[in-house]
Amino acid sequence: MEEKKTVWQHLIDRAWSEKWYIGISAAAACTAIVLGVHAVAVLLFWLVWMAALLSRSADPRPPLPVAVPTPIETDNLGVLASVFNALDTPIIVVAADETVLLQNQAAEKAFGTIPANSDLSARVRSPGILDMVRETIGTGKANQIEHSERFPSEAVYIVRVAAAEIRSPADRRLYVLSYRDISQARRIDRMRSDFVANASHELRTPLASLRGFIETLQGPARNDARAHEKFLGIMHEQATRMSRLVDDLLSLSRLELKSHIAPDEAIDLGPLLAHVRDTLAPLAEDLDVEVTLIVPEQPVVVQGDRDELTEVFENLIENACKYGQEGKKVEVVLSGGGDQPAEVSVRDHGPGIPAEHVPRITERFYRVNVEASRSKKGTGLGLAIVKHILTRHRARLLVQSEVGKGTVFTVRF
Ligand code: ADP
Repeated sequence: MEEKKTVWQHLIDRAWSEKWYIGISAAAACTAIVLGVHAVAVLLFWLVWMAALLSRSADPRPPLPVAVPTPIETDNLGVLASVFNALDTPIIVVAADETVLLQNQAAEKAFGTIPANSDLSARVRSPGILDMVRETIGTGKANQIEHSERFPSEAVYIVRVAAAEIRSPADRRLYVLSYRDISQARRIDRMRSDFVANASHELRTPLASLRGFIETLQGPARNDARAHEKFLGIMHEQATRMSRLVDDLLSLSRLELKSHIAPDEAIDLGPLLAHVRDTLAPLAEDLDVEVTLIVPEQPVVVQGDRDELTEVFENLIENACKYGQEGKKVEVVLSGGGDQPAEVSVRDHGPGIPAEHVPRITERFYRVNVEASRSKKGTGLGLAIVKHILTRHRARLLVQSEVGKGTVFTVRF
């Protein structure tokens, strides 16, 4: 809280800061000299000087700030440049005549070097940005627009310009252009809306088919016992497909919720893999595929969540059996233990995955062949779930595939 000053204190402050006491004592001394009273002159000078000093030492308040020019007033651009260089947002500072006074390092990295004092329009081609800057220079009001850059890489920015009330060396008003990169947020938005569109499309198809069969059973096939049996079988299949999809979607959203919590159970991978192989034995038999499991003698223990790791290997081995059915053999090899990192590879000898699809197969709903996946009861979410679980386990999924020879999925912990 600011202390209330008395008139006397104000007077002392001013007298001290403006060095009145020197003037007063000098004037008194001069008067005494003129009058020829030299001893009085010295005494007066001494008295006034001492009075001023005593009044200062009796005053407990800190001395007033001294008006020394600060660097920001003498060298604004240098100070601004070093402050802006510490930010990772591209910033360009222009003068009222639209010449570029400075750009920070982030701007240099994003748009290349703009020579100082060159015209903004020589480098910034976007008419939207230039119009906005001119408007701000004219009105003094801040503005912003959305702007997309194609080169050197595709990016979307919110570009804002605002007048800065700081004096430059030439006492000009500055205009600060800042670029906020929203490309990542845009990508996430797009992924989210794609996801909703994909999920509703996946649900709509079996729903439409169910509705069609219900109408047929209520109408033309009302009294046809054979049609009843056939259609109810298909309807059951479609309903199962929908519930598989809903289960996978719920599984994904559950995983997203706990993605930042690292699992902490100690899991011995050998017995877990043996259990998964046994669970999938009926499916492998149906598909006429032989699943071989090779585990080392020593236990291979990782920190993890038993149910989630079971889901990972179920998905990978099931995919190997389904999509690599024609290769007839699937090999699951566990290695590591002791000081070595744990690794599980699942190899099939099926048709393989063309190289252009490999980077995308862990995306939600991404399938190399949609019909093939549907006919094999796939939802397109299996590998997305695998990737999520492995991220939570700080493990990686590596895919090696050769068309015509087969695929190896490796989980490295
Ligand atoms: P889906 O439910 O369709 O099986 P996944 O996410 O498990 O979904 O797999 C995505 C796609 O990757 C599959 O549709 C399939 O095209 C391809 N894929 C997965 N595993 C294999 C494999 N072992 N061999 C060939 N293609 C595979």
